[in-house]
Amino acid sequence: MICPKCGSNHVTTQVVTETITNEKEKGFGWIKACLGYLLFSVPGILCGLCGMGKRRRSTRTNSRVVHLCQNCGNQF
Ligand SMILES: [Zn+2]
Repeated sequence: MICPKCGSNHVTTQVVTETITNEKEKGFGWIKACLGYLLFSVPGILCGLCGMGKRRRSTRTNSRVVHLCQNCGNQF
């Protein structure tokens, strides 16, 4: 491995693991409840409320390889 910047072969390679957490709040709305109410009256509201407060969490790990030049500090 040779640094593209200075041409030195004093390059260390390391794997960096990043964890990305995505938190999405489930879109509950009173709109849904209202629609439920219009369509099914009271049971519709209950249906709408059931979806309230649920969060969906997805975690993604991203690993990438980083080469660090010991000579000039270039990361590539
Ligand atoms: Zn370099």
